[in-house]
Amino acid sequence: MQPMIKVENLTKRYAGVTALNGVSFEVQRGEIVGFLGPNGAGKSTTMRILTGFIPASSGRVEVAGLDVFENSLEVRERVGYMPENNPLYVDMRVSEYLKFRSKLKGLPRVERKERIPEVLEMCGLTDVSHRIIGQLSKGYRQRVGLADALLAEPDLLILDEPTIGLDPVQIRQVRQLIKDLGKRHTILLSTHILPEVEMTCNRVIIIHHGRILASDTPDNLMKTLHAGGLIQVEVRGPGSDVQAKLRAVEGVESISAKLIEDGCVRVAVTPKPGDDPREGIYQTVAANGWTLRELTRTRTTLEDIFVQITHEEDEAEEERREQRRSVLR
Ligand code: ADP
Repeated sequence: MQPMIKVENLTKRYAGVTALNGVSFEVQRGEIVGFLGPNGAGKSTTMRILTGFIPASSGRVEVAGLDVFENSLEVRERVGYMPENNPLYVDMRVSEYLKFRSKLKGLPRVERKERIPEVLEMCGLTDVSHRIIGQLSKGYRQRVGLADALLAEPDLLILDEPTIGLDPVQIRQVRQLIKDLGKRHTILLSTHILPEVEMTCNRVIIIHHGRILASDTPDNLMKTLHAGGLIQVEVRGPGSDVQAKLRAVEGVESISAKLIEDGCVRVAVTPKPGDDPREGIYQTVAANGWTLRELTRTRTTLEDIFVQITHEEDEAEEERREQRRSVLR
């Protein structure tokens, strides 16, 4: 089946800044994809190009099989876009604003009458539909932005930092709303908040310095990048001997240890990728007659993965720079 979004070798240069550097990815129908990257990574730029608001410098972008550059009006009709900081007309009432927006989007009058109450209901706005937007809390304004994006029943929702500036309760509500919307829409949302991706998305695309560094399900990323996570071990036994013997256990990549109290040592063990040395650790402790006080594996979080991937990329970038410098010398 034709993908909902197809991006090929996309590049965007602003005066002096390369914001996107050969970005390619696809989003299939029905997916909720999180576009994850630190500030300045190129997330908003990608989204603005996808929605036809700004042109690319080079590359190809298709939404629902339509070339965005050639069909920008049609694409805008099919995409519900909530830009960052969600600009709204703060002097209007919620229902008035949605009416105004649906006219702009070319919804016929009859449809408008049905659709506005529907999106109000979907976004939990029915009770505040007569309130002035400027007097609503940020969480409610964000929902008005979502309601607006949903008006024309778009196949695709593009949401730029949908929970930015919200308090923890509002964040939960908006995330839940996005999850519910994901049952009927394809969603691409950008965020720099990791738990957001873990909680709402089936797939994550990591972008950094205008390049895609990874694209997979959160679970697979965690499995392939560092299967085991760290292992915490606490042993009552002679500190230096414990350290030396644990370091030698099969499947252990490295350890770091600290003495914690009389005769006890805490050791953080990093396993070799794909290895799980927990049983070897237990056997070593038992064979030496020491006491095992704790043996736990901490789960690798998406945050660990993100730091790992972006750190590797920064090192590779530094190496490329060094090579360029040595060529110039
Ligand atoms: P993100 O959304 O991931 O924070 P952006 O897409 O906003 O990143 O920005 C990517 C890069 O492009 C940044 O270095 C940013 O400073 C630059 N940039 C974004 N918009 C403009 C613009 N209108 N003019 C010049 N540079 C820009």
